[in-house]
Amino acid sequence: MSFRLYNTLTRSVEPFAPADGETVRMYTCGPTVYDPAHVGNFRTFLFNDLMRRALRLQGWKVVQVQNLTDVDDKIITRAAATGKTIIEVTEPITEIFHKDRRYLRIEDAEVYPKATTHIPEMVALVQTLLDKGVAYTAEDGSVYFGIDRFPAYGRLSRLDTREIRSGARVAQDDYSKENAQDFALWKAAKPEDEAASAAWDAPFGRGRPGWHLECSAMAMKYLGETLDIHGGGIDLVFPHHEDEIAQSEAATGKVFSRFWCHGEFLQIDGTKMSKRLGNITTVKDLRERGISAAALRHFVYSTHYRKQMNLSGEGLEASLEAVRRVGELAHRLETARGGTPELAVAAREGEAAFRAALSDDLNAPEAVAALFGFLQRANAELDRKGGDQEALAEARRVFLLMDGVLDISPRVTRVLVGPDTVEPALAAFTDLDEAERSGFAWGVERLQARLAARKARDFAAADAIRAEVEGRGFVVKDMPLGTQLERWR
Ligand SMILES: [Zn+2]
Repeated sequence: MSFRLYNTLTRSVEPFAPADGETVRMYTCGPTVYDPAHVGNFRTFLFNDLMRRALRLQGWKVVQVQNLTDVDDKIITRAAATGKTIIEVTEPITEIFHKDRRYLRIEDAEVYPKATTHIPEMVALVQTLLDKGVAYTAEDGSVYFGIDRFPAYGRLSRLDTREIRSGARVAQDDYSKENAQDFALWKAAKPEDEAASAAWDAPFGRGRPGWHLECSAMAMKYLGETLDIHGGGIDLVFPHHEDEIAQSEAATGKVFSRFWCHGEFLQIDGTKMSKRLGNITTVKDLRERGISAAALRHFVYSTHYRKQMNLSGEGLEASLEAVRRVGELAHRLETARGGTPELAVAAREGEAAFRAALSDDLNAPEAVAALFGFLQRANAELDRKGGDQEALAEARRVFLLMDGVLDISPRVTRVLVGPDTVEPALAAFTDLDEAERSGFAWGVERLQARLAARKARDFAAADAIRAEVEGRGFVVKDMPLGTQLERWR
């Protein structure tokens, strides 16, 4: 069955293959780095991650470019308010973005270009548009794209251009533009831009790039004039992507992107969060509440990317439980001595269902169902303790194939706590960040208090401590040698 994707440009699911048959050239709009990204934004980035992994499963190579918007109005306002330059504002936030992304196991894109290091490319693109007569310099010194001069304007968003104009005329307060919907390619430098080091020289006047321009210039620099896929959140269709198409196609005369793929947002509704988890808005919140990347990925992939979804405490709790079962299967497959012939059948059928689901417009919920269907059958077959090595190898291969795309098997960090356990055991956790390590140190301390309470036969106090530790997302297990403190990620 062919691989198919929904194309916003045509509003239909179409067969997809890279233009050159080998490498998918994909551009995905990245974050504006002035505040840490919201969990809702990460749903879009998880959708991009699913896409790149699913494309690779098809046997294609993927080159993904994701921009970092490090110059824009909000950043300049923030810089002005704090007396910083834009780079001083954006660098720490960029670091947080990558840290959060890695926590969620979102693979590295091949290139993360920053707008501020691609000014010459943007200046060249503006100059081309001026030379072609589709852009003009307004009285205020800014350069605008004239949408009247690009007849295909509105094709992606399907907004009638008359509609765009009549709707906008009311709000038109900027008379330097020919048309209210003309958008800025280049914004003339103002004193606050200069103060924040957000202004550059150009033949058409000193200024800074518009947001839409940066994506067109960087996408074409790294991926050529025609991309295979351009992705982003659904809110970017208009005006951002419409404007990217206008300025790119007016400059090159070529189709800018063959496919436009948009993911719905994850809504965060405080009333839908559980009491135990509290309100979650950032990845930092997830980490602190002990919600593993595996669980969030499972939660997000349980809904199709084109459907809206709400972050709910109930859903996250169910996902924590679901990925625990995936982790158990991983462990069983690793330690089994052999399988049954039926295990191999279950693996092959699971793989077929999994591939079919992803080929059908990245139907992740169906792919997750295929994994869990396989999980159920594999557990039953492993109970029979067969000796078939090939069947076991087949089951391992299929599990890794599925988990290689979804990446929902939890990683467990555990420490056995006795009365004397302290720092040395924690020092071994090199993959933990500072906050997680101190979270473990806290857990160890509390469990030692619990051991003391039990020794004193104060079981009510011991139970209260256990609940307190579990409330921070740890799993507590009493073992013969001590108490095991576990965290699943
Ligand atoms: Zn963009």
